[in-house]
Amino acid sequence: MVRAENVHKSFGRVEVLKGIDLQVRPGEVMCIVGPSGSGKSTFLRCINHLEKINGGRLWVNGKLIGYREKNGKLYELKDREVAEQRREIGMVFQRFNLFPHMTALENVMEAPLRVKRRSRSEARARAEELLDQVGLGGKTGNYPSQLSGGQQQRVAIARALAMDPALMLFDEPTSALDPELVGEVLTVMQQLAADGMTMVVVTHEMGFAREVGDSLVFMDGGVVVEEGTPSEVLANPSHPRTREFFSKVL
Ligand code: ATP
Ligand code: MG
Repeated sequence: MVRAENVHKSFGRVEVLKGIDLQVRPGEVMCIVGPSGSGKSTFLRCINHLEKINGGRLWVNGKLIGYREKNGKLYELKDREVAEQRREIGMVFQRFNLFPHMTALENVMEAPLRVKRRSRSEARARAEELLDQVGLGGKTGNYPSQLSGGQQQRVAIARALAMDPALMLFDEPTSALDPELVGEVLTVMQQLAADGMTMVVVTHEMGFAREVGDSLVFMDGGVVVEEGTPSEVLANPSHPRTREFFSKVL
């Protein structure tokens, strides 16, 4: 579903990703952990081409992201083509960034209406179904300011799902939440995983990584230091940097 091959990304002269090789199979939940500044968010943003990579290649669902390859050369895709690729990729951020002037229902209906040109009744029915799925069937008329952080984040998940993505990216979806609200968001994500969604999740929630993750990646300094099943990596980290990191977060 996702294939990263020797992905490099620099900001100016600072190289933030120094050759990332990773593969995510369909239906797999990959959790990425690592210290602040290690390049986790940058990597996620490269997957949906919010950041342009400087080297290597990235495929999602068999499609080369951001480029077309012809006779061994890469040509940048047009904005419209990039937008099309991005539709297959849902993203949920640390901050919920819902549209504040729209109700939960309108937030979830927005992209299908505007981008997918769905009819209002179709978009509404699907949005109601999705809000139900994330446990917010009773809050469809609430504005973001009338929802808790956990509820807002669940609306954000429903909104991403409304585009029927093949892949969901989560960048620390629970780290801005009060501790008592973390569980409700993780439960929704766990359900999504159980339904077979392919997910890449940057998180500090090691319990989630252990129980829901199929694979666990430890990044540091722009490289993948260690990768394996969560039980392998957690029980038996082979690299000193991984051990040091886990000794702080576990
Ligand atoms: P955190 O756990 O704090 O979220 P992270 O692993 O997600 O960290 P990134 O946000 O990917 O780390 O940042 C990696 C490095 O890239 C950092 O040194 C950051 O300052 C730098 N960086 C990220 N985005 C930009 C940007 N747009 N311009 C310049 N530097 C950037
Ligand atoms: Mg980050």
